[in-house]
Amino acid sequence: MKTVVITGAAGFLGSHLADRMLSEGYRVVGIDNLITGDLKNLEHLKSDTRFEFLEHDVTTYTSVKGAVDCILHFASPASPIDYLKIPIQTLKVGSLGTHNLLGMAKEKKARFMIASTSEVYGDPLEHPQSETYNGNVNAIGPRGVYDEAKRFQESMTMAYHRVHQLDTRIARIFNTYGPRMRLNDGRVIPAFIGQILRGEPLTVFGDGSQTRSFCFVDDLVEGIFRLLSASYHLPVNLGNPHETTILEFAKELLELTESKSEIQFEPLPVDDPLKRQPDISLAQELLGWKPETARREGLAKTIAYFRQLSPEELRHKEHRTFN
Ligand code: UDP
Repeated sequence: MKTVVITGAAGFLGSHLADRMLSEGYRVVGIDNLITGDLKNLEHLKSDTRFEFLEHDVTTYTSVKGAVDCILHFASPASPIDYLKIPIQTLKVGSLGTHNLLGMAKEKKARFMIASTSEVYGDPLEHPQSETYNGNVNAIGPRGVYDEAKRFQESMTMAYHRVHQLDTRIARIFNTYGPRMRLNDGRVIPAFIGQILRGEPLTVFGDGSQTRSFCFVDDLVEGIFRLLSASYHLPVNLGNPHETTILEFAKELLELTESKSEIQFEPLPVDDPLKRQPDISLAQELLGWKPETARREGLAKTIAYFRQLSPEELRHKEHRTFN
């Protein structure tokens, strides 16, 4: 049986990837320091003997026993409010963490994939964003800690590919949503759904004319799995090109949930990108991949997930232990 190590396994994407890799027949070793991840996302795997969880911070020396075929480095704070609260940890996991895991990949002769991001394009001056665009990032702004960590992560991964011939993959992931997102992580989809469920106004930042393009998690996981199986080392955009303004999106959610919540405008955060839309022609050509889930369907599944949370969970994030 092949073994895959997934960092950030207790997070939103990491836990969905753990499910997918198990269903593909892999043994999965999930690593997470639980700084933003939640063991609740892995609770359903507790009795699966092919799944092992290690509570560990990958910015320190990292190793697992036995053979490893693939390493998927998905550990990172991933929400703008996290970057403000834990900027140093965000920088460390993308830099020191990536270096440690590349070292482990070299030692184990494992395939190595990183979760890069549309944030490498910063506030883009090219629209839509294709992989050849070099971006417009403010290194010293509040989001810079994430953007630069991810840019460093890409550089380091390419260096290991070039110097050590490591078999590497770089997924540039655009806004993704779905069940298991942290309700209170401040990102727009959980924020709006939480506000709707609590009967609060929807906080639209700025005038809501900034755009995003939202991909449902199952589509993203399919793209990641295909990229892992392809033989391609340069960055590949993965996301849904269906673009919307944040104000239109707030209205769409209100309509979908038949909510009476008002819209409340709040200041636009510093360096909030004005536009974001992936050009996925490379992924289409290389992987035969494009998102298949309609937004209404993806949102309905996401809303259903948030609806089944307890009133207590609707208010706070819980910290659980695995055993
Ligand atoms: N946003 C908003 N209200 C919120 C949270 C976010 O209007 O309560 C906006 C935010 O300013 C940004 C977009 O929604 O323009 C997406 O924000 P998110 O934090 O989800 O991710 P980003 O794409 O900015 O990393």
